[in-house]
Amino acid sequence: KPAHPARRPAVVAGASSGIGAQTAKALAAAGFPVALGARRVERCEELATAIREDGGEAFVHALDVASTESVERFAGAVAKELGDVEVVVCNAGRLAPGSLLDATTEQLVAEFDVNVLGAHRLLRAFGAGMVERQRGDLVFVSSDTALRARPFMRGYSATKSGLEGLVEALRMELEGSGVRASVVRPGPTWSEMGSDWDAEAGAKVLTEWVRWGHARHSHFLEATAIADAIVTVVCAPRGVHISPVDVNPEAPV
Ligand code: NDP
Repeated sequence: KPAHPARRPAVVAGASSGIGAQTAKALAAAGFPVALGARRVERCEELATAIREDGGEAFVHALDVASTESVERFAGAVAKELGDVEVVVCNAGRLAPGSLLDATTEQLVAEFDVNVLGAHRLLRAFGAGMVERQRGDLVFVSSDTALRARPFMRGYSATKSGLEGLVEALRMELEGSGVRASVVRPGPTWSEMGSDWDAEAGAKVLTEWVRWGHARHSHFLEATAIADAIVTVVCAPRGVHISPVDVNPEAPV
């Protein structure tokens, strides 16, 4: 079977900004019809218009990965509009600054609900169809913090290590199914993450990050670098597994 059939509908969960927006653009430019999902639908609509102007195919539907009902509605709408989905990029994620000592259980539950359970909801909505058709790519956007936790990011690092544990088990469960489960692990990347942080808490995240030797925060990647890595993973020939993919700035981190 060809590695790149003429039409491979792709979903990007968390497509309204940053890495997800660039991934949707890059997939569309590579010929994938794309379904853009996020809570900020108007931002997805703007992006879809730009994709169509560039000759791509784009569909937008509201998506809240923290709601099973929303994910199911999204999946139904996408199937109706684009047909059988072959690629799902589980990119939706959240990071709130703050210490673990101050964080409430409810705050941590909300983080896990998006970063880990959101990915599982997407798997539940799209995975069975892929297995039935014996083809598909599930790409999970993790973080370098999955490997090396950082302080004052509440449960964020734990959500990303949790996500990777889930994907590794999934990868083994999917062996021989024709469906790939891959991890792309960005280092520090320019995006809208942090744009809504309280200035003091945000500064603390960055100074502690540098103090613990994780990065000089002058070194950030463009979101297009992560998008390119995701396209490379989903365009790998069938039977080839490229994962996890660490994408970091050239400067030492
Ligand atoms: P952005 O804040 O720019 O993008 C986050 C995306 O996630 C938005 O599209 C947002 O859409 C979506 N999202 C958040 N919550 C939900 C939800 N409940 N349902 C649906 N979509 C949701 O940040 P990034 O581009 O940086 O983040 C993308 C991914 O990359 C995340 O998983 C993040 O953890 C990961 N990452 C980022 C790094 C960085 O340095 N920027 C480094 C390592 C990993 P909306 O708000 O409209 O719903």
